[in-house]
Amino acid sequence: MYVLIGNNTKMKNDIWAGNTTCPNCGQKHDFHLMKLVQTATVFFVPVISVTQKRYLVCDSCQWAKELKRSEYNEIRKKQMNILDEGRFPKDIIRQDCHPDGVSIIWRILKLIVSGGFATFVFLSFLLMVIEEIKESGDLSALPLFFMIILICAIPFMLSLKNFIPAWKMKKAYDELTGE
Ligand SMILES: [Zn+2]
Repeated sequence: MYVLIGNNTKMKNDIWAGNTTCPNCGQKHDFHLMKLVQTATVFFVPVISVTQKRYLVCDSCQWAKELKRSEYNEIRKKQMNILDEGRFPKDIIRQDCHPDGVSIIWRILKLIVSGGFATFVFLSFLLMVIEEIKESGDLSALPLFFMIILICAIPFMLSLKNFIPAWKMKKAYDELTGE
């Protein structure tokens, strides 16, 4: 069978990283966490994304500092807390958290599809395991079955991990705009 496989690399805006003096342009500006993401596609459908590099970027002059994964995650966690506490500036919420901008519909769709797939795999294997055990009384295949189920749940867990911050951003936007 002919399968069209491709990949593209894109710079993705992640989250507002505070307002501070830029070492390059010397002015106080907003900064954003951004990441260079490589996405593998099958028939133009994104299947898996891998973060190549992480940056702290000045909104004004685009000066970028490459961050280690741990530094990036630390800032990101701090900023998610600030968002949770409702302390993001209003203009940043308007600019960054629009439901279309955070692709909320697409993320919900991904959750449903990956969750449905995981549930389907879980139920089918559960039935198979029950049949198998009933017939042979042998439990040796159990670990393999559970491993397959866990692997098939990975897309769902990844979708959920990406969904939660997007949902929080959408919520902040809705609260601000009173929708
Ligand atoms: Zn700057």
